[in-house]
Amino acid sequence: MRTDQTWSRVLHVDLESGRSHVLQFGSRAEHLGGSGLAAALYSRYGLLDAPALDPRQPLIFAVGPLTGLFPLMSKTVCGFRSPYTGEWAESHAGGRLALSLRFAGYDALMVTGAARGLSALIVGARTVDLHDVAYLRGADVFSTGKYLRRFGRESSGHRSCIRIGPAGEQGISYACINVDSFRHFGRLGAGAVMGAKNLKGIVVLGDGSYRLPEGKAYPKLMRELYKDITGTDKMRKYHDLGTPANLTALNGLNALPWNNLQKTTDERIDGISGETFADRFLLRQTACAGCPVGCIHIGLLRQQFASDHEFLYKQVSYDYESIFSQGTMLGLTDGSDVLALLDETEKLGLDCMSSGVALAWVAEAVEKGVITERETLVPIRFGEVQGFMEALRHIAMGSNEFYRTLGTGALKAADVYGGAEYACVLGQEMAGYATGEVFFVAQAYGFRHSHLDSGGYAWDQSSKEKDARKAVDFLVDDEYKRILINCMVSCMFARATYGPERIAECLASVGLTDLADGLETAGRAVQALRWKLKFDTGFDVDAVRIPKRYTEVVTWKGAIDTTYMDAVRTTYAAAIRELAASGQPMSGSEDA
Ligand code: SF4
Repeated sequence: MRTDQTWSRVLHVDLESGRSHVLQFGSRAEHLGGSGLAAALYSRYGLLDAPALDPRQPLIFAVGPLTGLFPLMSKTVCGFRSPYTGEWAESHAGGRLALSLRFAGYDALMVTGAARGLSALIVGARTVDLHDVAYLRGADVFSTGKYLRRFGRESSGHRSCIRIGPAGEQGISYACINVDSFRHFGRLGAGAVMGAKNLKGIVVLGDGSYRLPEGKAYPKLMRELYKDITGTDKMRKYHDLGTPANLTALNGLNALPWNNLQKTTDERIDGISGETFADRFLLRQTACAGCPVGCIHIGLLRQQFASDHEFLYKQVSYDYESIFSQGTMLGLTDGSDVLALLDETEKLGLDCMSSGVALAWVAEAVEKGVITERETLVPIRFGEVQGFMEALRHIAMGSNEFYRTLGTGALKAADVYGGAEYACVLGQEMAGYATGEVFFVAQAYGFRHSHLDSGGYAWDQSSKEKDARKAVDFLVDDEYKRILINCMVSCMFARATYGPERIAECLASVGLTDLADGLETAGRAVQALRWKLKFDTGFDVDAVRIPKRYTEVVTWKGAIDTTYMDAVRTTYAAAIRELAASGQPMSGSEDA
């Protein structure tokens, strides 16, 4: 496969008919790849008038034109219609998937339809096989992974195994797809979309090859970037303590959500700080394929087993967001409790952030007497891990009406049972930044409802003036820069390295000069198309809610300024409405 081709090579597998074929899709200069390729594919093959879990909806995994060519170009974009919001959505993951797709010779894998029975899809450069795995019905993520890794054992090169757990099979709106070990397409329910296709797992065999670019420019730039990433302090914080270093910092700033955001700081932070995790639990660090940084921190969890003298040792990954959502939000202050919850969440195939924040709402609703053990089936209290552990299983299995509703999102459950004013939901369950007005608006209105959409939290911390226009201009422009990264598809941690100019240089060095020359135009077009798709699939900018808790919270800047927050809301809503209106479909030629 050539890296400088002008179209994207997409493997389309239709599970309904059992057919597959390779598309020469669209124009790279137009959609760029990754995020733009996924959006272009959905505009061509997606069903606007069918629900998210209609098996005919495409489930797309896309990489970028620089995947496998530069350091940290190691992520895959998963594009799908979200069962959580009903809208076009993306989730991003690392692991080995991106390189496996590249070696298999594909820019994207698109799956449509549903298999007749529970199945595993095996794809490679010369392989497309569907296997009946009915015996894995209800199996957890770990045993499913163990089994699926038998497929393609004999093939050479990178191999990636993605799969769902019970939560995906049950169609829980925040079921994730687990990618290899410790990585996830976490947010907005890609796991449920895969479950609706009767697809328990996909194994991608990277058993082909691709040609490295010729000439001197590429190796020279590659060396320069490698040095920039490994020989400077830019990425050091991700490797050392990792993102958990933020716990102490944000707690000190009154910006760390605790006990369902009833407070933003707590003196018991030392029990679960990044330093404590490093001292007490850190076993090793690992990395996504193609990344020399290695930010993935693996803790060792020791659990008592059977008798007093028998123990089970488990490796559990942790980072800032997972410690916030399944730690501080739940009032837990012992790292081993957090690791135990994360291990259970991983096994069940739930998104840790959404499930943790949803359980934090449950704990407060119980505290206030809005719901009782009749609904929760087990005692739930802040600071007590056992109840949360059991409740996670009830969410994944949809044990009763209450848990089935909670499995569609905390705010939806609150609308039924009460307590909507303290459901910490901004489009979806919140990310761990109680930094102020701009972040709350950015997550509630943002494309993925993610802290990764734009740096709203950074604006809150750095800008002293309360100018809604300037804040929104920043959000829109920062989103554009991040979209370029998501089209390539780089790890977002490398955003200080991969600015627009650097990306253009990289593209030119591998012979993609048309992409480099038209980068800004294409990036802005992808930004508009993504918003158009979100609106076309039901996003109503006037229906966005910011629960009352976000107006009551006290951050390091003091009380929330609701007048300023409203100004940011209306200005941002107008800006994204304008972006959506300017969105244009992209060409989607197809040749077998
Ligand atoms: S910095 Fe971390 S998440 Fe990003 S590519 Fe490297 S290992 Fe993966």
